[in-house]
Amino acid sequence: MKLSRPKPSHLALTLLLLTPSASLLAADALASHEHGHGTLQLAVSGNQVELLLRSPAYNLLGFEHAASTEAERQIRDRVMTWLTQTPLVNTPDQACEIHTSKSHQDNGKASHNHQDEGEHHDESGAGHSDIEISQTLICQGLGDDPELGTPLPERFPELEHLDIEWLSAAGQGAIRLEHGQATFHLAH
Ligand SMILES: [Zn+2]
Repeated sequence: MKLSRPKPSHLALTLLLLTPSASLLAADALASHEHGHGTLQLAVSGNQVELLLRSPAYNLLGFEHAASTEAERQIRDRVMTWLTQTPLVNTPDQACEIHTSKSHQDNGKASHNHQDEGEHHDESGAGHSDIEISQTLICQGLGDDPELGTPLPERFPELEHLDIEWLSAAGQGAIRLEHGQATFHLAH
């Protein structure tokens, strides 16, 4: 792989360009913290897809408190491993491979080590927890107008709808995947 490793801030900056109000949307998404709802932002450039998934932990783990029992730790470890090792979007012929992947869970603590660009999402006292996954994918043969799918709705039935926003050479768009829907077209 000859591609240089993107710096962590690169993803955040790219995703902030998704819409003029992307940072406001992100703040709204975090503030609302709606169980059953998640957001997935994509920035597509050539064969590279950068993505950021944000979801209440409940949708992915089934609980939001810090894992305290052995069973909960196993669930958390299994889910976080899956989320960081599975391309969260892919082409119909599964051409996408993970180049970099990072996870972050906010357990409702007042402080955390997340590198947000001035974005504030202190959830202390809320009793809720969010999970963020960022990935850089390399998808050989990704065209200007690709059909993409996501394994998230099938893997996580509690994720009832997923708002997807994207920015590509063809422009930007958004779609809400309802329960059971797993594919979308960037040209929408
Ligand atoms: Zn919650």
